[in-house]
Amino acid sequence: VRRARIAAIGGLIIAAAMATSGCATRRASVATASLDRTHAVAQALDDGPARNVILMIGDGMGHTEITVARNYARGAAGRLRLDRLPLTGACTTYAVQETNPQLPDYVTDSAASATAWATGHKTSNGRLATAARTDAPLRSIVELAQARGLRTGSVTTAELTDATPAALAAHINHRSCQGPADMARCATFRKRIGGPGSIAEQTVDHHLDVLLGGGLGRFEETVDGGPYQGHTVIDSARAQGYRLLTNAAELEEAPPGEKVLGLFADGNLTLEWGGEPAKPFPGSGPQRCVEDLRPPNEPSLAAMTRKAIALLDGGPGFFLQVEGASIDKCDHVGDVCGQIGATVAFDDAVGVALDYAQARGDTLVVVTADHAHTSQIIPPPEGEDRHSPGAYSTVITADGAPMTVNYATNLPGHMQEHTGAQVRIAAYGPQAANVVGITDNTELFSIMSRARRIGK
Ligand SMILES: [Zn+2]
Repeated sequence: VRRARIAAIGGLIIAAAMATSGCATRRASVATASLDRTHAVAQALDDGPARNVILMIGDGMGHTEITVARNYARGAAGRLRLDRLPLTGACTTYAVQETNPQLPDYVTDSAASATAWATGHKTSNGRLATAARTDAPLRSIVELAQARGLRTGSVTTAELTDATPAALAAHINHRSCQGPADMARCATFRKRIGGPGSIAEQTVDHHLDVLLGGGLGRFEETVDGGPYQGHTVIDSARAQGYRLLTNAAELEEAPPGEKVLGLFADGNLTLEWGGEPAKPFPGSGPQRCVEDLRPPNEPSLAAMTRKAIALLDGGPGFFLQVEGASIDKCDHVGDVCGQIGATVAFDDAVGVALDYAQARGDTLVVVTADHAHTSQIIPPPEGEDRHSPGAYSTVITADGAPMTVNYATNLPGHMQEHTGAQVRIAAYGPQAANVVGITDNTELFSIMSRARRIGK
């Protein structure tokens, strides 16, 4: 069987001729109709203002995580949707040290990185939209957008109180303070002493129009101060005008014109794919991943993105953040199939945003990651005295070839670590050219707020 697949990228045509024999083996090659991208890049330049901004964060989606997912799901010469954004650069992600904010902390966590693009300021690991050492609140792009009358939304496959969405909708000294019962490290922020409360409470009190993700358990905890003392965070959300959504059908049916709080799992949403985790020598696999593990009552990231856009559309413009959170979470535990499935699901959501933006022409879409991560593509182990000291798994890719993915930033069996490399940033739409070259994650705040003219 011979198939030709053609993808148009502006004026650029990539034709991937794929020869398949049987169902498992494919050989891929890229036939280059034109390697001159000058016209395509010129076509992509747009210096006008944006009506809408969609920020898409692949949590822990470094260059390796993108390459692993591409090799596995599309083949080495294939392309993901996020590969088709016309303007691409690299983004530095370092945090600063809590005790001496003049010094960089080269390996960021999701909280400090999200604070950087949400507020334009570096902070130390663990903090959400507060300054290192001082706890001073840092104004977020959501607050600026709301002050200009824009609609705002936040979508994630993690708990809505997890670090990336939390940086938009809370100011707190530590990311662990997700619900009113989790305030051990954030004593001065408690509602009962007049503080703004936990991340769940602040998220509701920030009145974003669309909140979709997991973390129902945090929102069932009891508020310990203020007007809703003694009631759950969900009760306080309802009292403040939110419609609660708890499954995919309710999400589909939610009408426009109401604020929505979608909590589709007690904790994080279920992983899309699964398989054997990475193991020390001789590793796990060779394997193909098991797909379609998410139960149908939980919406996919693409479905949440589509609905969020539909609910936010039609007004004065909007800011929406969409996070594919499980890339990071699977990287931490060496779950190669979970990681690939989460990356592919994130890529599907990127496709939803790009389809919308391409149809409208007035929407800036930025796709990036908050930090790089553990996984590496390495040669297959060759024997007792020639293999990685870490854990690894070999998967059989869409090319029909083995690919060994390694996890070795910590001892096998322990949580793997983030890494400090720059990450990809790519964009489409008005002012997308500002991501080209090398930027810092704090500049992303300026790029987005300038594009929508919501700066200070
Ligand atoms: Zn992480």
